Amino acid sequence: MTPLDKLITYFERFPGTGLRQAKRFAFHVLTLRPDQVQELAGLITSIQNSVVECTTCHRFFSDSGIRQTECSICRNSNRDHSKLLIVSRDSDIEAIERSGVFDGVYFVLGGTISLLSNSSQHPEKVRTSALKALVTDKINSKTLKEIILAFSINPDGENTSRYVESQLSELITQNNLEVSYLGRGLSTGSELEYADPETIKNALAHRTHHEQT
Ligand SMILES: [Zn+2]
Repeated sequence: MTPLDKLITYFERFPGTGLRQAKRFAFHVLTLRPDQVQELAGLITSIQNSVVECTTCHRFFSDSGIRQTECSICRNSNRDHSKLLIVSRDSDIEAIERSGVFDGVYFVLGGTISLLSNSSQHPEKVRTSALKALVTDKINSKTLKEIILAFSINPDGENTSRYVESQLSELITQNNLEVSYLGRGLSTGSELEYADPETIKNALAHRTHHEQT
């Protein structure tokens, strides 16, 4: 495999990228000036050391050198810690933060659960035990009232909602927690991270609440 083929293969593994796009990226790299290539290579090499994963919500944040273990959202006491919004990826949080309407806190599940996947593979793929631990902690400190499931409106997103709810069902019923879904306003098949701020604002304002039985 030539270095160019290798680079194309790396780009092809990027989320949402096909072979055609991966080739365009690789050929774009060939057109960069030497100093730009240097900078890009340097960023790729150092990014994992300058970004830290929040111990509470698991989103990535830039380490300002102070060695914080929690991100600015989790540390912010002005945010409503009684509302926990669960997303699959970091980029979903960015989209919701851009809409500026959510004042609660987040949890990054780390992926979605494909409708077609083998159910025994679930625990490794997403942060189920970290989520359960966080919800339990919040229940113990009496700070949690509502869990908002904010996954994309497609079969995998809906399957992920069902999975998370089943994993948390005991904690939810025992502690009378409210569960709601971000849905109305988001069109079917839409990815949360690409939704515009106005759409997210509507989807949050009109979130559907789960009927407790
Ligand atoms: Zn955090």
